[in-house]
Amino acid sequence: MPGDPELETRGRLIRSLGALRDMLPGSFVERKRACGRPNCHCADGKNLHSQFQISVLLDGKPRTFNIPAKLVPKVRQQIEMRRRFDAAATAICGINLRRFFKEKENL
Ligand SMILES: [Zn+2]
Repeated sequence: MPGDPELETRGRLIRSLGALRDMLPGSFVERKRACGRPNCHCADGKNLHSQFQISVLLDGKPRTFNIPAKLVPKVRQQIEMRRRFDAAATAICGINLRRFFKEKENL
């Protein structure tokens, strides 16, 4: 008996979630800023410093936190994991909704 391709897809999606366990909420933000030191390269207003931030809702309020340079690649990936998690959840819910409609039809 051949497997249901939707169930196979759902199983594959569920199994992919474990790899996303380090996901972080919110969005990744890059801010350009001048540091204010008159002799710095940023003083021309063009070669500004990059400050990376994570923007999240905490208790319903938008908050922004600086990301130390050393953690930028990791945090960027962790925020991307959340996007993939949400995409997988949306796909799983779509499959389950179709299954619900089918089940209802066949009652
Ligand atoms: Zn500067």
